Amino acid sequence: MSQKILYHSTRDRALTASSSRAVLEGLAPDGGLYISDAVNAEGFDYRALLTCTAQEMAEAILSRLLPDLPEMGDLVRQGYAGKFETEELTPLAKVGDRYVLELFRGPTSAFKDVALSLLPRFITAAKRAEGVTDEIVILTATSGDTGKAALEGFHDVDGTKIIVFYPYGGVSPVQQAQMTTQEGNNVCVCAVRGNFDDAQTGVKNVFAACRDRALPGVRLSSANSINIGRLAPQVVYYFKAYAELVKSGRIATGDKVHFVVPTGNFGDILAGYYAKLLGLPVGKLVCASNRNDVLTEFLTTGVYDRRRPFYKTTSPSMDILVSSNLERMLYLASGGDTALVAALMRRLNEEGRYQVPDTLLSALQETFACGCCDDAQAAALIRRVWEKERYLCDPHTAVAYRVADDFIEKQTDGAPVVVLSTASPYKFPAAVLSALGETVADEGFALMDRLHDLTGVPVPPQLASLRQKKVRHTDVIDREEILSYVLGKIGQKDWEAK
Ligand SMILES: *Cc1c(COP(=O)(O)O)cnc(C)c1O
Repeated sequence: MSQKILYHSTRDRALTASSSRAVLEGLAPDGGLYISDAVNAEGFDYRALLTCTAQEMAEAILSRLLPDLPEMGDLVRQGYAGKFETEELTPLAKVGDRYVLELFRGPTSAFKDVALSLLPRFITAAKRAEGVTDEIVILTATSGDTGKAALEGFHDVDGTKIIVFYPYGGVSPVQQAQMTTQEGNNVCVCAVRGNFDDAQTGVKNVFAACRDRALPGVRLSSANSINIGRLAPQVVYYFKAYAELVKSGRIATGDKVHFVVPTGNFGDILAGYYAKLLGLPVGKLVCASNRNDVLTEFLTTGVYDRRRPFYKTTSPSMDILVSSNLERMLYLASGGDTALVAALMRRLNEEGRYQVPDTLLSALQETFACGCCDDAQAAALIRRVWEKERYLCDPHTAVAYRVADDFIEKQTDGAPVVVLSTASPYKFPAAVLSALGETVADEGFALMDRLHDLTGVPVPPQLASLRQKKVRHTDVIDREEILSYVLGKIGQKDWEAK
C-alpha cells in the first residue's frame, strides 16, 4: 500500500533525497528541513489499523513515511523490545472529563523515547540502504531530555558513536545523573559552561566547520527533531490513542478527536498533523506553551518574533524561542511554497521576526488552536488534578492540561479531548512537590522518595536506581572548546569511560 515518497528541502524543491538519505543527513544542505509532498491518505486506510497492536501500527505508518528503510517490522520490534512498560507502548488514561496519552513509559521516562528507541536502527538501516560504511557520529546539545533518550538509544549500536553536550548546572539533578552515569563504549557526555543556547550554537558551529573539513571514515549527524527519522515514529501514537477511543466505545470510527500538545520545537504537534494528512480524523491540534509564548502569539496574529525575553520555567523542555519544525508546517500550510518558506526563514535569521500572509494564517488556524500558561498556573493545575482526580502530572503535561481547560470551555462539539503527557513527574520532583504545597529546600534524590511517600505513585525503576550508579562522565569545557573536543574524540579509538 506504500506510495513512493521522495523528500526535498522545505526551501528548495530541487534538493531531493530518498527517505534513507534524509534520515542520514538530518538537515538538507541549504539548511532547510526534509519534507515530502506525498504524505496523504491515498491508498492508506487508517480504519484497517484500528485493530492492530502498537507495533503493527508503527510498521504500517513508518513503512509509508520512510519507504526506503528495509525490514521496517524488524526495526520496530528490535527497537522497542523490552524497553517500554507495556506492549501498547503509549497507554491512554481517562482523567476526569478528558484523556491523557502517556508517552513517558519508556526507558528514560520522557516522550522522546518513542522516537529515539528507533532512530539508531533507522540510521543503521539507512547506511546499509545507501551503501555508506563511514562511522556515524551523533552530536546532540540537550536541555535535559533529548540527551539521555539519545544516549539510551545509541549506546552500543554498531557503527555509531554519540556525543552529548549539556549546560553545566542547567539541567535537573535527575537529568544530569541520567546522562553522566550512561554506560556503553560508544558514548560521551560533556558539560559546557554556559546555557543551552551556548551548547546548541557550539554544536551547530561544529557541523559548519566540518562541512569543509575532511573527516576520513566519519560522518556527523543529528538526533533532534529536525531529522525526519525522529519525527515519523511520533505519528503512531495519535493513531493508537484514536484506536483506544474507538475500542472503548467513546467514539465511532470516523468521529473527530482533539489533541492538546505541550510544545517546544513543534515536533510532537507536527506529528499530529501528519496523522491527519494520513487520514486520521483529527479535530483541532491545540498548541500549548509555557511563559515562552512565541507560538501562541504567532498562531493568533501571524507574527513570529523571537526578539523577546527568554524565561527559565518549571517546564524546561518547552523553553524555546525558535521552534524548528514550524518550518515544515509553513511549507505544508502554504501549499508547498518553497520561495515563501526560504524568505521567511531568511527574515527570521536576519531580523529575528517575520509575518505570514493572511491566507497562510487562516490555513493554520483551521488546524491549530493555541494557549499558554505560566508556572504558577501549571503548579495550581498539578495540585488540583492530584486532589480531584488522584492523577499526578509533570510540569510539561500540566501546561497542556491547563490549556485544555480553556479549549474545552470554548469548544462545544462534544468530541473527546486527549492531552499528550510528555514526562514522568519523577524527572521534576522539586517542581511537583512544591506544586503540591510541600517545602523543598534542596534538589537531591531524596525528593523522589518524598514524592512517592506523599502520593504512592510508583517511581520508575530506572530513575530510582540512579543514585546507586557510578558517574562515568565528568568532562566540563568552555563553549569555545566544543569543536576541538569533538575532533579530539573523533581521533580517539577507545571511548571506554572510567
Ligand atoms: C521535548 C519535550 C517537549 C516538546 O516537544 P517538541 O516536539 O519539541 O514540541 C515537551 N515536553 C517534554 C517533557 C519534552 O521533553
